[in-house]
Amino acid sequence: MAIRPALALVAHDKKKDDLVAFAVAHRARLGAFDLFATGTTGGRVIDAVPELSVTRLKSGPLGGDQQIGALIAEGRIKGLIFFVDPLTPMPHDVDVKALMRLGVLYDIPMALNAATADLLIAHPDAFLQT
Ligand code: PGA
Repeated sequence: MAIRPALALVAHDKKKDDLVAFAVAHRARLGAFDLFATGTTGGRVIDAVPELSVTRLKSGPLGGDQQIGALIAEGRIKGLIFFVDPLTPMPHDVDVKALMRLGVLYDIPMALNAATADLLIAHPDAFLQT
């Protein structure tokens, strides 16, 4: 079976409801991708939209952000939807920063909030050009 383009989904705890709503609203478009998610985020997305192809990695604070960063560096992940909580200090803040840095370095489409994620998913071809 051909490898499909891959997107990463990550949401901080206070943004998980928003990401689930995003996945439900855009289930048809997301269905064209292999999805990789940090552990808790992935579980929430699978519960809400079981037909999506979601690979759950480790939870973010346990290394999941870094796993996604590695997949970006390897060229496997073509886009990042990362619903960031800007109001809560996090123990894995350095991992969050490192993930964003790799998204910038490898110049993949990267949405850090719902408004931008809605724009990106409206143009899914954008994920295929990186
Ligand atoms: P989680 O990780 O999906 O396992 O909660 C996300 C994060 O905090 O980076």
